[in-house]
Amino acid sequence: MPTVTSINPYTQKEIESFTTHTKKEVKVFLDKAEKRFASWKTTSFTERKELLNNAAKELKENKETYAKKITEEIGKPISQSIAEIEKCAWVCEYYAANAASHLEDEIIETDAETSYVSYEPLGVLLAVMPWNYPFWQVFRFAAPALMAGNVAVLKHASNVFGSALNIQKVFEKAGFPKNCFTTLLIKSDIVASIIENPIIKAVTITGSGPAGSAVASKAGENIKKTVLELGGNNALIALKDCDIDATLDTVVQARFQNTGQSCIAGKRLLVHKDIENEFTQKLVKKVRELKSGNPSNAETYIGTMARTDLAVELEEILQKSIKMGANVLLGGNRQNAYFEPTIVNNVTTKMSLFKEETFGPVLPILPFKDIEEAIELSNNSNFGLGVSIFTKDIKSIQPYISQFEEGAVFINTLVKSDPRLPFGGVKQSGYGRELSSHGIQEFVNRKTVYIT
Ligand code: NDP
Repeated sequence: MPTVTSINPYTQKEIESFTTHTKKEVKVFLDKAEKRFASWKTTSFTERKELLNNAAKELKENKETYAKKITEEIGKPISQSIAEIEKCAWVCEYYAANAASHLEDEIIETDAETSYVSYEPLGVLLAVMPWNYPFWQVFRFAAPALMAGNVAVLKHASNVFGSALNIQKVFEKAGFPKNCFTTLLIKSDIVASIIENPIIKAVTITGSGPAGSAVASKAGENIKKTVLELGGNNALIALKDCDIDATLDTVVQARFQNTGQSCIAGKRLLVHKDIENEFTQKLVKKVRELKSGNPSNAETYIGTMARTDLAVELEEILQKSIKMGANVLLGGNRQNAYFEPTIVNNVTTKMSLFKEETFGPVLPILPFKDIEEAIELSNNSNFGLGVSIFTKDIKSIQPYISQFEEGAVFINTLVKSDPRLPFGGVKQSGYGRELSSHGIQEFVNRKTVYIT
């Protein structure tokens, strides 16, 4: 039987082997999910709300257990794994409280006696998810999907199957009927055949561009809706008048939390030339103080990257840029999946460090002379997920916000997801939105009703 083995990237030891589901088994799961949808869609918001609040409770009560598995599977520092579980509880509570109002019939005055839009579930949804926030990425999709009356099947990344099974456990322990949420233990090579199955009504994917493109092409061929949450290459822009110390704290968090493996991480630091020296010196000092080590220790801030091959890929990007003249101010070395927190200057727009998404703890710095140049540099990217701008003069930056080709502009803080706000990108970062009322309305039939 084919198996997938998960490796602890910190110890480099095997954690567990999972027997993958066969195509036949997957078909049975999909049939069961379809049957479940027939009854689940008739449940009331009140019933769904109670179950989702139970899921939040389960997450909060057992956060250490779920977090431990995340840390084991991807080397995420334990305090950050616990924070991820807490955030999942928040998104469950948010949609438990707000789904009914997000999906209320929308009356629209026309020539009809009555005309309105009603929001109805689509059916069985497929979620293809990544390893970097193995719980959060799934819950931010699943909480609204289930509240809207859909059911879900999950294809999780192959290195986090333990967490994938734990997520199913959370829903089962919360009392959701069987097959409302199903984890499929499969590799990516059978995703296309699942998308082709008529039972699947829509697909959401979070991950790399190539994976997004493969999934969206197959879904398009089969006329199925997709939401794509792909990569990012967010700029962090420190204007001349920013509060340097406060900005530094945020920059460090934006780049180095989750060991740099976040789509919305600040991946290119743009600093006004007049403050570049002071800013860079203070930054190097601060980053040098970040505590690397065993991800299971509460005080560790930098764990390992999720897999050795990902760290090797990052090293290649860095080395290519060094050959082109980039200068390493701090770090730059790798051991297995561990990559030192790294700061690089003398970076140009032609280097991979600037152009490609660096999914790990490496921060390139570029100076700029004025806001126009900062905007040009920020927009000089195939991605468009978000940007952070740091300034004391909020009024004068506001007129420039529309010039950023991004899904989000955050002023004086890092780009972050919040259940109350829509989240998603433009350009190669994908399309569609998650979270807030926008997220829950992605996977529904907006039915027009006209009565005369
Ligand atoms: P992938 O995009 O390859 O993996 C994400 C998910 O997609 C996994 O479940 C994966 O399954 C699946 N997948 C991969 N290829 C296909 C395919 N052709 N058809 C269907 N499903 C597919 O990410 P990687 O793990 O390879 O990471 C590589 C890079 O992706 C990172 O360095 C980063 O740049 C980017 N990334 C971005 C993320 C984000 O949040 N935007 C998250 C993770 C990665 P399986 O694991 O079985 O291959």
